[in-house]
Amino acid sequence: MTPRLFVVSAPSGTGKTTIVRRLVRENPGVSLAVSHTTRPPREQERDAHDYHFVSDASFDEIRDAGGFLEHANVFGNRYGTSRREVEEKLAGGSQVILEIDWQGAEQVRRAMPEAQSIFLLPPSRGELEKRLKGRNSDKPEVVKRRFSEASHDVSKWTDFHYVLVNIDVGETCRRMSSIMKGDGAGYAVHDEKHRACVEEGIAAGGW
Ligand code: 5GP
Repeated sequence: MTPRLFVVSAPSGTGKTTIVRRLVRENPGVSLAVSHTTRPPREQERDAHDYHFVSDASFDEIRDAGGFLEHANVFGNRYGTSRREVEEKLAGGSQVILEIDWQGAEQVRRAMPEAQSIFLLPPSRGELEKRLKGRNSDKPEVVKRRFSEASHDVSKWTDFHYVLVNIDVGETCRRMSSIMKGDGAGYAVHDEKHRACVEEGIAAGGW
């Protein structure tokens, strides 16, 4: 399998962390780059596993030294991908997944045009709200902010190479694996049939 870089983006609450972690667990040749963030850790999160939790000053230091492949402000916190980590993982022969927002995805597409990007959509607006609230890990104002930005996030799907609607986690993982193996043409944004189906889903989903 050719080592390649994959960017996965989705509105907050779509389930991308669950999907990406499962993909990594089930596919030994696939690894996830651990991002840096200035956001405080959630209760169950571990430093260096979920994120490198850093101060604003450390974030600036890494950014100023050119250490981020991409970085962005998302929901009032800063997030960035370590250039070195990605390069080392690719050099080690892994397929590397970046789980980042649409702003970061844009930067990666510019910096590394060979990277493939995948956008995940929640089944509907109502379901996203339910998932965000049900997560119980964020304060109500954080949930509100994330939900209010979801429509804008959704509007970015046509900028990606592939798009999947995450109705069932197992099925989404199977489709993501196909894309990563190079068999995902049927899920490409430019596939007319698939695109029409996704557009229909977006309209029906209340976006
Ligand atoms: P959360 O706070 O829920 O872990 O993540 C919030 C958002 O930030 C998600 O859309 C997530 O994909 C995005 N994100 C996480 N790490 C990075 C990163 O390194 N760069 C960018 N641009 N976004 C990130």
